[in-house]
Amino acid sequence: MFDVIISGCGPTGAMLAAELRLHDVRVLVLEQETEPVSFVRIVGLHIRSIELMAMRGLLERILERGRQRPAAGFFAAIDKPAPEGLDSAYAYLLGIPQPVIVHLLEEHAIALGAQVRHGCAVAGFAQDDEGVTVELADGEQLRSRYLVGCDGGRSTVRKLLGVGFPGEPSRTETLMGEMEVGVPQEEIAAKVAEIRETDRRFSFGPAGVGVYRVVIPKAGVSDRAEPPTLEDFKQQLRTIAGTDFGVHSPRWLSRFGDATRLAERYRLGRVLLAGDAAHIHPPIGGQGLNLGVQDAFNLGWKLAAQIRGWAPETLLDTYQAERRPVAEDVLDNTRAQMELLSPEPGPQAVRRLLTELMDFDEVNRHLIEKITAIGIRYDFGAGPDLLGRRLRDIDVKQGHLYGLLHRGRGLLLDRTERLTVGGWSDRVDYLADPTAVLGVPCVLLRPDGHVAWVGDDQQDLDDHLSRWFGKPAN
Ligand SMILES: Cc1cc2nc3c(=O)[nH]c(=O)nc-3n(C[C@H](O)[C@H](O)[C@H](O)COP(=O)(O)OP(=O)(O)OC[C@H]3O[C@@H](n4cnc5c(N)ncnc54)[C@H](O)[C@@H]3O)c2cc1C
Repeated sequence: MFDVIISGCGPTGAMLAAELRLHDVRVLVLEQETEPVSFVRIVGLHIRSIELMAMRGLLERILERGRQRPAAGFFAAIDKPAPEGLDSAYAYLLGIPQPVIVHLLEEHAIALGAQVRHGCAVAGFAQDDEGVTVELADGEQLRSRYLVGCDGGRSTVRKLLGVGFPGEPSRTETLMGEMEVGVPQEEIAAKVAEIRETDRRFSFGPAGVGVYRVVIPKAGVSDRAEPPTLEDFKQQLRTIAGTDFGVHSPRWLSRFGDATRLAERYRLGRVLLAGDAAHIHPPIGGQGLNLGVQDAFNLGWKLAAQIRGWAPETLLDTYQAERRPVAEDVLDNTRAQMELLSPEPGPQAVRRLLTELMDFDEVNRHLIEKITAIGIRYDFGAGPDLLGRRLRDIDVKQGHLYGLLHRGRGLLLDRTERLTVGGWSDRVDYLADPTAVLGVPCVLLRPDGHVAWVGDDQQDLDDHLSRWFGKPAN
C-alpha cells in the first residue's frame, strides 16, 4: 500500500515525488520507459522554476549542468533586452537538456526516499472510498490512497478518468533533429538568415562539432506514431530553402505538433492530473516543463497535508483553482505567440507593432513576468498586492530566505518579533528578523513560497494559519 502512485517520471512526476517525500509520504513513481529518451531537447528553465530549485537546494547542481542566458527574447522570439531590475535574485534563463533536468529531479526524489520503477506502464485503475487500485500493463495490481497522472500529453490516466481535453488539434507540425551537413557553414548561415527574415519558426544552427540542430515548420500533420525520416527533412528543406544542404548521418529525428488543449478538471476523487497530462500547447516561449514543475510544487504539499491528516477541507481543491487559470493564461499567450510567428502579412504587421510597443518598459516587463511566471498572483481574497504572489529571495540574518525553505514547510517571517506560530510549529517555521528587507511587518509563506498572509496581528495570523495549515496540534 502506497500513499501516492504517480504515473510518469518526466519532470512533473519526478518533482511531485520529491515534494511528497519532504513530508514522509510513501510514493511510488511508475515510468513506462526503461531508458531516457534519445532526443535531446534543450529546454529553458525560467525565473520562477529557477527560484523553486533554489528553494529546495537543487540550484547549484542544476547550474553545473546548464547555461545561464539573459532573461530576454522569449515572447514570440521578439528580440528585446530584459527590463532593468526584474523582481528576482535569479533573473536569468537557464538552458539545460531536458533529459539532464529529468535525471537530476529523479535522483533528488530517490535520495529523499521515493521509489521509482522503470518499464512499468499504468494501464488501468479503479477508485473507491479508501483508495485507488492501479493496474500495470503486465497485469500486476498495486494499491494507493491517491493516483496522480503526470504521464504527458497523451496521458493514460486522463483518458481513463474520462476527463475532457478540449481545445484545438494540431494543424501544423515541426520537424526537429540533429544531423551532419554537406555544405560549408557560410552557405548555410546566409540562407538561414534570409529565411528567418519572414519565418522565425525555421532554424538551422551548429549544435556541437560537425552537428547541426535543425527545426523546420511543415504544413499539415502526419501520423504521429511514425517517426520522421531523413528524407522528410530533405524534402521539407528543399521546399523552404531550395536546397537540402546535403544533410546526412542524423543523430536523432523527431517531430511535434501545435495542439492546444486544457483538461476540464484537474481532480476527480482520488485521482489528479499535473503537467502535460493537464495541458498542452506549442513550445514557443518554452513554458511547458516550467508549468508542469510548478503544478507539482503547488500540489505536493497540499496532497501531503491531505495524507498526513492536517489539510483543511478545501485545501486540495485549491490546486485546480490556482493552477488551471495559470495554464489557461499560458495557453492563451502561446496562441498569441503562434499568430505572431506566422509569415502572413497581417500577423507580421501586428508583430512589428508589438515590437515597437515593447520599447515601453511596462509592456516588456509585463510579457517577461508572464512567461517567467513571476507575475502570478493567486486569488486569496482581498488584501495587499503581495498577498497571493510569490516572495522573491531576500537576505535574512541566517543567510538567504530560500535557504530556509528546503524542507517544504510554511514559514512566518516576523519583523516585529512579537508573533508566534504556536500550535502550528510542527508545520510552519518561524524566523524573527527585524532587519529583513520587506515592505511589510510580517509575512506567512506557504511551502510553495506564496504569500498566504501579510500583517502584524496575532489573531488574524492564527485565522490564516488555520485556513492554510489546518487545526493547531495543541
Ligand atoms: C521542441 C520542444 C521544446 C520544448 N522546450 C521547452 C522549454 O524550453 N521550456 C519548457 O518549459 N518546456 C519546453 N517544452 C515542453 C516540455 O518538454 C514538456 O512540457 C514537458 O516535458 C512536460 O513534462 P511532463 O512531466 O508533464 O510530461 P512528459 O515530459 O511527457 O513526461 C511524461 C512521462 O510519463 C511517461 N508515461 C506516459 N504514459 C505512461 C503510462 N501509461 N505509465 C507510466 N508512464 C507513462 C512517459 O514515458 C514520460 O516519461 C518543449 C517541448 C518541445 C516539443
